[in-house]
Amino acid sequence: MVKTVACADAGHDCDFVVQTDNVDELVHHYMDHAERQHDREVSRSDAEDLVTEVPT
Ligand SMILES: [Zn+2]
Repeated sequence: MVKTVACADAGHDCDFVVQTDNVDELVHHYMDHAERQHDREVSRSDAEDLVTEVPT
């Protein structure tokens, strides 16, 4: 099951999107992006809340 996180869903004016079937990887990439690009620490649970399934 492919899942995605869109940075815009976190309220940023940003087109960063991660898409993978590995939730750990997804959360890690998003947290890394938020910290680097938005200087914002995102908790793992907050990142997980942004994960949505990509309709097949
Ligand atoms: Zn972003």
